[in-house]
Amino acid sequence: MGTKNTNIAIIGAGILGTTLSYIISSLSNSKIILIEQENNAGHHASSRNTGKVHAPFIYNPEKKNGLAKAALFGYDFWNNYCMAKKINFKEDGIMEVATNDKGTKTIYKHLEWGMQNGLEKKDIQILEKKEVESIEPNITCQSAILCNRDASVDYGEITRCLAIDAFKNKVDQIMNSKVIKIENELASNKEITLKYKQYPCNSCNSDGNEKEIKCDFLINAAGGSALDIVNMMKLNLDYTNLYFRGEYWIAPLKYKYLTNHSIYSVPEFQQFPFLDPHWIIRSNGNREIGPNACPVFSQHGYNTRINLKEFFPKIYDFAKGSNIKKIKNMFFKKEITQLVLKEMLSSLSKRHMINRVKKFLPLLKSKDFIRKGTSGIRTNLIDKYGNFITNPVFISSNNALHILNYNSPGATGAFSIGFVLAFKLIEKGVVKKDKEIQTHFFKEKLIMDCIKEVKISLIKI
Ligand SMILES: Cc1cc2nc3c(=O)[nH]c(=O)nc-3n(C[C@H](O)[C@H](O)[C@H](O)COP(=O)(O)OP(=O)(O)OC[C@H]3O[C@@H](n4cnc5c(N)ncnc54)[C@H](O)[C@@H]3O)c2cc1C
Repeated sequence: MGTKNTNIAIIGAGILGTTLSYIISSLSNSKIILIEQENNAGHHASSRNTGKVHAPFIYNPEKKNGLAKAALFGYDFWNNYCMAKKINFKEDGIMEVATNDKGTKTIYKHLEWGMQNGLEKKDIQILEKKEVESIEPNITCQSAILCNRDASVDYGEITRCLAIDAFKNKVDQIMNSKVIKIENELASNKEITLKYKQYPCNSCNSDGNEKEIKCDFLINAAGGSALDIVNMMKLNLDYTNLYFRGEYWIAPLKYKYLTNHSIYSVPEFQQFPFLDPHWIIRSNGNREIGPNACPVFSQHGYNTRINLKEFFPKIYDFAKGSNIKKIKNMFFKKEITQLVLKEMLSSLSKRHMINRVKKFLPLLKSKDFIRKGTSGIRTNLIDKYGNFITNPVFISSNNALHILNYNSPGATGAFSIGFVLAFKLIEKGVVKKDKEIQTHFFKEKLIMDCIKEVKISLIKI
């Protein structure tokens, strides 16, 4: 069995793990291994999303301060990075529309939140019905927010580009390799052993070779699998994963000039971490509708075959231990049942999904949508009372950092959260700061302001 030794092992080459590997390797000469089960970086949620650099007006500053500020700084980080790398960063702005009185009230609340989260007057404004008509004549609504500080990118492309920069910084990237077992002593400073299976290629059916990595410190950035990694380390966190597939429909070319902006509507169920399907203008100019949030059985349940395969294991997982109680508690909440039914209907019926957007873009006809876009899965934690966890969860022990529930606007916030975590690890003495950050992508002030303002708390165990 081949053993590799390293200071830091990062599980997961999604946008977060890859960004962290790049940031830490820019600050330190520590040996870093980035291990990924797929054959390239950014294979899952990081490539399968809406591609928005979200402006932070939809996040309650009292409840989602960390993520909101991460998104605020994310705009400058990605703008600078994409400019340096000549990657498309389309500064195309966003409109959020209200179709009724309740929605209009929310629009005013969102304006306040946006300002509290650091947007400036020049970035964001409320539009009355007539003003919307002059900017977006095909949109029907009562009122809207127009925010200029919102952009469209291809996060998959960005993640792959960052993986190359991390590689140049000597990060050892082990692809096609799935971590299957972890040996550690809780609350010790001792090294951790990761057992993994390396497959010769992504799609081959080989059993894979078992190998191991010994590391001083582990960063768990395994996205939808982060809780599985926590469970491998027997940390007993009382959470369960739920998976929601976000599906997209690609609009035909004739709809290309319907709007100048991507358009969201005020979400019907505002207490949950999902927006309603929107009208999207992608960074490549494609127009799409989506995503919904249909419950599925696997974090990779992109199609029926995978979901059928994962049906019994997930039902078994739900039924065991305290999970059954969490699921029961969750379905006792009326709004969750309503949300789930609506989202499932939008998956089963194209017309239902298109109608949710047609509400504010009435020219759409469901028969014109014949191609599905790329779907992506959000993994959301629920706690023992069946409540949705709406923020990321950062768990820190002597020899590991786990990032769970890292959902939207996770891609927008990856650099901000990455810098904050890297500096926390420096403070903790896990990362030795050997060099000044290479600031050819960003001004040092941007990084320092971000670290000062993006407040995240680590749960120590
Ligand atoms: C439908 C949808 C729309 C979204 N829209 C937006 C948006 O517009 N803007 C925005 O900012 N955010 C958006 N998000 C959220 C954003 O995409 C995620 O927050 C972000 O991509 C999470 O990155 P990650 O690196 O944590 O996870 P991932 O990209 O899932 O990466 C985790 C990686 O870990 C690997 N891994 C897991 N287990 C193992 C193991 N045992 N061994 C080895 N490797 C392992 C996986 O293969 C994967 O590559 C959206 C998400 C979805 C699903």
